[in-house]
Amino acid sequence: NGQVEKIDYVFKVVVIGDSAVGKTQILSRFTKNEFCFDSKSTIGVEFQTRTLTIKSKVIKAQIWDTAGQERYRAVTSAYYRGALGAMLVYDITKRQSFDHVARWVEELRAHADNSIVIMLIGNKADLVELRAVPTEDAVEFAEDQSLFFFEASALSGDNVESAFFKLLEEIYGVV
Ligand code: GDP
Ligand code: MG
Repeated sequence: NGQVEKIDYVFKVVVIGDSAVGKTQILSRFTKNEFCFDSKSTIGVEFQTRTLTIKSKVIKAQIWDTAGQERYRAVTSAYYRGALGAMLVYDITKRQSFDHVARWVEELRAHADNSIVIMLIGNKADLVELRAVPTEDAVEFAEDQSLFFFEASALSGDNVESAFFKLLEEIYGVV
């Protein structure tokens, strides 16, 4: 409608975690409210944005997606530069993706700012019958490492919005 929106803050958020846990679909659910069934592995797109209001401030979330560099230590420090938040995603049906979460936390501690806010996401919560990671294991890890935690589903959309809002609110609280 021709109105120019005044943006109070731009928050950079990075999405990390093993390959195929659903990082790109979580991002697409949050920024476009879409889930793409025939998605190829990520090609080139650096980030997506969504503008929203938190505590009456207009916040532009600039959310970065790995371009298939999920191999251990392949994500460059440029990816983490300036990031205020991280969505660390695992797949509740793939135990290995949860076992690797500790490595991803180490990566963040090594390359990202000390004050980065970390949200752990157990994705694919719609696949309850295939669950390989008990919720309590993740709750315990998150408490131990001072991470926020949600189980979510990019497919159904459950908790995707809540997780991003919680993360962005926490970032807003520390800036
Ligand atoms: P990425 O490599 O972490 O970016 O993973 P993608 O977003 O490309 O997703 C990997 C696969 O998991 C794709 O086949 C998706 O359709 C599927 N997927 C992603 N999120 C969900 C989810 O919440 N539920 C289910 N059932 N499948 C999902
Ligand atoms: Mg991807």
